[in-house]
Amino acid sequence: MSKRIAICPGSFDPITLGHLNIIRRASRIFDEVVVCVTVNATKTSPMFTVEERVDMARRAVIRYPNVHVESSSILLAEYARQFDNAVIVKGLRAASDFDYEFQMNLINKNINPELETMFLTASGKYTFLSSSVVREMARYGADLTGLVPSELIADIEEKAKQWRKA
Ligand code: ADP
Repeated sequence: MSKRIAICPGSFDPITLGHLNIIRRASRIFDEVVVCVTVNATKTSPMFTVEERVDMARRAVIRYPNVHVESSSILLAEYARQFDNAVIVKGLRAASDFDYEFQMNLINKNINPELETMFLTASGKYTFLSSSVVREMARYGADLTGLVPSELIADIEEKAKQWRKA
């Protein structure tokens, strides 16, 4: 039987402990997890470039041997076609996530009817956490401990410093 693959998509600008919680849980259920950093055209001013987001995500998942990180600028439903047995796995935080995800799932199904999406409920301690919260906190120089992987804090603080100067 071919391997079961989970695709965890997102902008990961930057990757947070909430994302990592979903990725780690998916890595226990699936043979392989592909973290797909999307080049999101609707988010006009990302804090980090795609290359930086991929690099940070790679450093964050280094301890999980069946997880790897890629980037994609094509529609997720098209991207998923390259895998035989792929399922999209997303985290659900709140009702607002649900409405958006329900809509995205319908769009994806329209393009690629074979493609399934599964949801893991966010861990209680991360339901409030999003990349935008991290960006906002970083901008004001707040402590990022407990929000992002500790090995990424210095990079995020450095980028926030450049932002404040600009
Ligand atoms: P964000 O909403 O933080 O900007 P992304 O666009 O990168 O994140 O989201 C990618 C996926 O990760 C989405 O499915 C989103 O619901 C999920 N996700 C984001 N933050 C969390 C969290 N704190 N807990 C669980 N899932 C999350």
